[in-house]
Amino acid sequence: MTPLLPGSATLGVLGGGQLGRMFVQAAHSLGYRCVVLDPDKASPAGAVADQHLCADYLDSFGLAQLARDCDAITTEFENVPAIALETLAGMRFVAPSGECVAVCQDRAVEKAHFEKAGVACAPHAVITNEIELAAIDPALLPGILKTSRMGYDGKGQVRVRTPGELTAAWQRLGQVPCVLEQLLPLAAELSVIVVRGADGAIVNFPVQQNLHRDGILAVTEVPAIGVDAALQQQAVASARQVAEAMGYVGVLCIEFFLLQDGRLVVNEMAPRPHNSGHYTLDGCDVSQFEMQVRAMTGLPLVPPRLVQASVMLNLLGDLWFRGGEGPQTPDWAAVLALPGAHLHLYGKAEARPGRKMGHLNLTADTPEAARAVAAQAAAILGLPF
Ligand code: ATP
Ligand code: MG
Repeated sequence: MTPLLPGSATLGVLGGGQLGRMFVQAAHSLGYRCVVLDPDKASPAGAVADQHLCADYLDSFGLAQLARDCDAITTEFENVPAIALETLAGMRFVAPSGECVAVCQDRAVEKAHFEKAGVACAPHAVITNEIELAAIDPALLPGILKTSRMGYDGKGQVRVRTPGELTAAWQRLGQVPCVLEQLLPLAAELSVIVVRGADGAIVNFPVQQNLHRDGILAVTEVPAIGVDAALQQQAVASARQVAEAMGYVGVLCIEFFLLQDGRLVVNEMAPRPHNSGHYTLDGCDVSQFEMQVRAMTGLPLVPPRLVQASVMLNLLGDLWFRGGEGPQTPDWAAVLALPGAHLHLYGKAEARPGRKMGHLNLTADTPEAARAVAAQAAAILGLPF
């Protein structure tokens, strides 16, 4: 592939959320023009792009215009219809492929891919009908019933302890195809972001340690100081194996569970930059968004280096409602008075509980110092840390 050199090409992205916004910002700093396709008039990425095509992901006119105006196209939204990516691929270079994105869109297919790639995942069973429901191995209980498609931030998931609860939960989820996963005793959660080029070159970011609250990512810490080096190497090797087995091109994030007995199992993956990689904007010499640009343009993929220990705090809309009455802007001035504090807001007009409004990266020379400044920032914002 001849690289699309900085300053001389236009890049397209399907989806206009915060991931698309940060992609556009990274592409802009390399001098690319950007076009965002998203049906929402007020999308965070549309607001910063050179052009916003306000169209449905399946609108053939919108897709044709995106292909006409762009030299290469990516996605920031994993539930974009795979057929949209396949249609675009007939006209332009597209990464990741519709085929790879389709694997990530369906938990059952995704788990089958993990097994094929030789990477262990949680014991599970697929439930698509009453017969499969009745045949569930009771050893999978207590478990978590997850819809196969369209789940995110813990949505579309129900914890179940008994066969009776399982039946009720499946009915509650509308009897759509689901995966029942055994509830595992977690010691920690990790993620690894790998970047693979069309030429097969592959690099990875350092292992990230993640803390979720109510199914939503709350904190990421890098380096993952509490996690054994051999386990970290295993996570990186598994992540690379998963990407290579798919012939993946682009940025791929793989989430892992570290179990209390020391085993590592893969949870799920996202075919795009990931919330747990937002620290790379300030903690690494190349961010995950710049890597997305490099992968789709055929630029060199250098191994990213962690230059500062980092803690990322997710900023959910709940923060705006701390005072009791209507929404109030958090005390950003106090937060920004802390050395090493880097605030990223996504330009969303309305704060709502659970909505991802931004994130705060705290960086320092040592993990201990990064944690100390994160604790100060969390105290100012009223976040647990
Ligand atoms: P995301 O926002 O990452 O896409 P999601 O809605 O797809 O989230 P999962 O990653 O499947 O959901 O699960 C969300 C969280 O729930 C996990 O990070 C973990 O904390 C917990 N969890 C999920 N599955 C299990 C399991 N089998 N055993 C124990 N905890 C689990
Ligand atoms: Mg997850």
